[in-house]
Amino acid sequence: MSKTATIIACPTCKKSVAWNEKAIFRPFCSERCKLIDLGEWASGGHSIPAEPVLPEDFDVPAGSDLPEQY
Ligand SMILES: [Zn+2]
Repeated sequence: MSKTATIIACPTCKKSVAWNEKAIFRPFCSERCKLIDLGEWASGGHSIPAEPVLPEDFDVPAGSDLPEQY
């Protein structure tokens, strides 16, 4: 069985990104897009529920978007 390439779209610029060990910034295409997305989270630029959210209760999704260390 050969590996099937998984292609995703960068959340920031929608550019196609190959999901593999070399895509260390996945799901982003580059560090720049990653930082842009994180910046939008911090400033509330991302799409968030209309209901008010207390900063203390604001959990940032963690895990899958962090590059593994090799
Ligand atoms: Zn991008």
